[in-house]
Amino acid sequence: MKAIQLVAHGAPGKFELRDVPEPRAQAGEVVVQVQSCGLNHLDLWLEEAGLPITVQLPRTPGGEIAGKIVEIGPGSAAVPAASSEKSQRDAGAPRWSIGDPVAIQSNLFCGECEFCLRGEDSMCLRGEILGVQRDGGFAEKVVVPARSLVRLPDGVDFDTSAALTLAGSTAMHMLTNRTQVKPGDWVLAIGGASGVGSAAIQIAKHLGARVISTGSTEAKRALAQHLGAEFVVDSNDARWPADIRKITNKHGVDLVVEHVGGDVLGKCFDCLARGGTIVSCGATAGRDVQFNLWPFFVKQHRFIGSYGRNRADLETTLEWAAAGKLKPVIDAIFPLDQTAAAFAKLRSRNILGKILVEPFEPESESD
Ligand SMILES: [Zn+2]
Repeated sequence: MKAIQLVAHGAPGKFELRDVPEPRAQAGEVVVQVQSCGLNHLDLWLEEAGLPITVQLPRTPGGEIAGKIVEIGPGSAAVPAASSEKSQRDAGAPRWSIGDPVAIQSNLFCGECEFCLRGEDSMCLRGEILGVQRDGGFAEKVVVPARSLVRLPDGVDFDTSAALTLAGSTAMHMLTNRTQVKPGDWVLAIGGASGVGSAAIQIAKHLGARVISTGSTEAKRALAQHLGAEFVVDSNDARWPADIRKITNKHGVDLVVEHVGGDVLGKCFDCLARGGTIVSCGATAGRDVQFNLWPFFVKQHRFIGSYGRNRADLETTLEWAAAGKLKPVIDAIFPLDQTAAAFAKLRSRNILGKILVEPFEPESESD
């Protein structure tokens, strides 16, 4: 089969479209024919050797995968999801058949450790990142543990799934698991044209929040507004936290959905209401940050880490997509042999929403 492999790190790294052996499903595994795979900043970190993880090259990147089951390994058809109540109800019955449309949970989890057993697969002690620690979805097929599958609901196509399952479920985990949003809360979603930001605006809005977002260009700000942000501030203007205090009548925001890090984090604290929370899932602008502890404890702020998603978050994300409450924002779709160009486009930051890679001509997914 064809796969895009990263053969040398760099910015840009060196990619090759290669013929690699067909993946086969061992016990507990399935092979999925990839129909669409989303590109994430994680892929750029893999490309430039920017992850605090040892990676063996060559590696096929890509974690945000939607596709069809084409092979089921021994015992895999009945593998239940570790944490989902819905899935445990029918444990033992065949769950999977050839041809089933699925999304894959990219933070692979063991299903057995203390955290997996209580439904916190995002905290798995033996977690692996699909497309980083094992070959991912910029390929015609991928082999994954059956427990990492979630069935696509009716009405959710492969591109919608590939554009939402990683970034969208990350935002879902941040807003409904790691923190809570009350109707009327002010929520600041950083980077409203990004994958996490565009989903966070929609989710917070549906939870009853008043949403503010940020954007570095007119087009990005217009998109954030279109998605439901009541106000969108210009992140190029260093005084944007003052704008936010003005918008909220000096109250500040009750929750910040943050995924940028670096200098942006300090500005988020400047926007925060007393008793407010920053939930953070990323550090694309810098991992080493400083913040002043005095206002932090005096104003009784909370700073919460969020990583990946639990299976329940992924299921909720897809249910919301099926119900039309969460819409993907797709900037561009590239064929598999143009994956390097897709990486370059994401690195340029000149994008609105998600970039997807499709290994096959679109007509092959019409069924
Ligand atoms: Zn585990």
